[in-house]
Amino acid sequence: MKILLSEHAGFCFGVRRAVELLEKEILRGEKEIFTLGHIIHNEDFNESLVRRGVKNIEVGDLDTLPEDALVFVRTHGIPLPVIERLEEKGITYLDATCPFVKKIHSIVQEEERKSLADGKETVFVLLGDCNHPEVLGIVSCAKRFPVVVISGLDELERYAKNASRDAYHIFLSQTTHSVAEWEKCCNYAKDAFPNTVFYDTICNVTEIRQKDVRVIAEQSDLVVIVGGMTSSNTKKLVSVSKEICETVHIRNAQELPRKKLKKKMTVGVSAGASTPDSVIKEVIETMSEIKNDEMSFEEMLEESLKNSKKRVGEEVTGIVTSVFSNEVHVDLGTKHTGILPSSEVADSETNLAASFHVGDEITVMIQKYNDPEGIVMVSKKKVDARANWSKIQEAYESGATLSGKVVSVIKGGILVAEENATYFVPASLTGAPKGASLDPMMGQEVAFKIVEIDPVKKRAVASIREVLREEKKALEEKFWAEVEVDKVYTGVVKSITSYGAFVDLGGVDGMVHITELSWKKLKSPAEVVSVGDEITVFVKEINTETRKISLGHKTEDTNPWKILPEKFQAGDIATVKIVSLTTFGAFAELIPGIDGLIHISQIANRKIANPADVLAIGDEVQVEVVDINYETRRVSLSMRSLLQDEEPAEEAAAEEAPATDAE
Ligand code: SF4
Repeated sequence: MKILLSEHAGFCFGVRRAVELLEKEILRGEKEIFTLGHIIHNEDFNESLVRRGVKNIEVGDLDTLPEDALVFVRTHGIPLPVIERLEEKGITYLDATCPFVKKIHSIVQEEERKSLADGKETVFVLLGDCNHPEVLGIVSCAKRFPVVVISGLDELERYAKNASRDAYHIFLSQTTHSVAEWEKCCNYAKDAFPNTVFYDTICNVTEIRQKDVRVIAEQSDLVVIVGGMTSSNTKKLVSVSKEICETVHIRNAQELPRKKLKKKMTVGVSAGASTPDSVIKEVIETMSEIKNDEMSFEEMLEESLKNSKKRVGEEVTGIVTSVFSNEVHVDLGTKHTGILPSSEVADSETNLAASFHVGDEITVMIQKYNDPEGIVMVSKKKVDARANWSKIQEAYESGATLSGKVVSVIKGGILVAEENATYFVPASLTGAPKGASLDPMMGQEVAFKIVEIDPVKKRAVASIREVLREEKKALEEKFWAEVEVDKVYTGVVKSITSYGAFVDLGGVDGMVHITELSWKKLKSPAEVVSVGDEITVFVKEINTETRKISLGHKTEDTNPWKILPEKFQAGDIATVKIVSLTTFGAFAELIPGIDGLIHISQIANRKIANPADVLAIGDEVQVEVVDINYETRRVSLSMRSLLQDEEPAEEAAAEEAPATDAE
């Protein structure tokens, strides 16, 4: 006879945790311990507790407890009113409700809170055994909305006949219910109730065991399931196995069907989540005795261990069972306890207690086995790195834009950190001007793209310039879609040449010709603008083919020929500044942008050979505005008309020079 032992037989995480908590309290010996219902569905185990002074009570017994009593709440949890009663009476209690069951309590309470806030008509549908203590505890968490408990699809169909189709239905399951039944109910409910949310709350221990027992049943002539007769998960294992193979449900070795076993070639063995290892061991040893040429329990266990050992480098999802300051213990569903040291967490500075909690699901990578101690070192850092690398590859292939913080300036570039990855950005791809210091980028949040990856060294090169280039292109496209003649922009002077100034309009540069900068005649644009100045410009011309834009800066509002009439009329006296000298006279600025001519004959009350004999550039003199010609845009000024004649004035030069002005 060949015996196939399920690698997932025996205490699950929740039961082991509860038993360990109880064991600690017994050893402490400070209180008289009372369990609210049996801790596990195993008669032998429960009897051993009684022998050690632990008493099993019902809720009705709470009134008669001694003062030093400690009430122990088992993995199933208890209804909220019972907890409230314990607290009202000041009875000390230790809550060993399995974290997976607690999670269902939280879902019900949170969904109820949200439904009340949204004013939604809500019904909870719970797949489970209506008399099971876990179900009673879950039901008690919904105070305002009904909880319909169904055992399977038949009952769901009956409920659906009279139920409100439009109500918001929330589907949950008892942790140990059948996975297949849950799937059937979900498929039916999807059509029956359009407004439905499903929480798959079946414990993965249950799921794994059910899958495992199915595999064993397919290879066996008989399956033996060991566990209490009232244990829900054990009963589920029996029913799953029975669908495939002949199955017997026993509580202990004494109940083994000896005659039947002798006729079987291959016998599978599995056990419920509350069956102690000692009971499984006895069952295997008894079976071995029946066929004394079979392996011992230790050999079976070793074989099971071998089968259950995950490969080094393999990723395994387990459950956090303990959190210490320097390491986290993980139940990997095998006989080895996973040890996750803080050095194997992505950030070794992480506060483990704040980041990991008992009952959390965690995926780790197998590193190194220590068989004598029954432990295996695991790493989360490597799992994160592997996931990260997949993400990096995806971002590289899709060209996605990522964002991160500059964490270091190194030789040749900078390092940018994003979540758990660090990228090198060469100086030429930082977007900083060539040769500029990169120090000011330190600490900045930057957007970047991955432009090169090295799958062997798991390194990625990123470019900030690429993102800037794309942003610039997008701005350009937007600009060209919106630009039109006369549109006004506020731009920044980017550069100055002898013939004009280039202005950045936000992604696109335009040119303001020197003559468009000012109404004054300029020798250089630098007389009125500097690089970095913010100036207002308007579009004069657009060439969409060459993508060139001519801009104007001076406007009619600042046209001096429009301003002049408000300031001066012919006959007015003005103080002006000499701006240039010629042989036939001197030009003086009347108002900014308009220069008038003081003809040589009008400079003094005597004959002079050269204007420079009397005037110098920069002199301020008083003049009379003799004439303003708006058509020819010329202004004639006279100093002489304000002076007393010393001698008869010479006739004006035979050929009069032009009375000129500004442009
Ligand atoms: S079977 Fe799952 S839910 Fe139940 S006690 Fe064990 S770990 Fe918790």
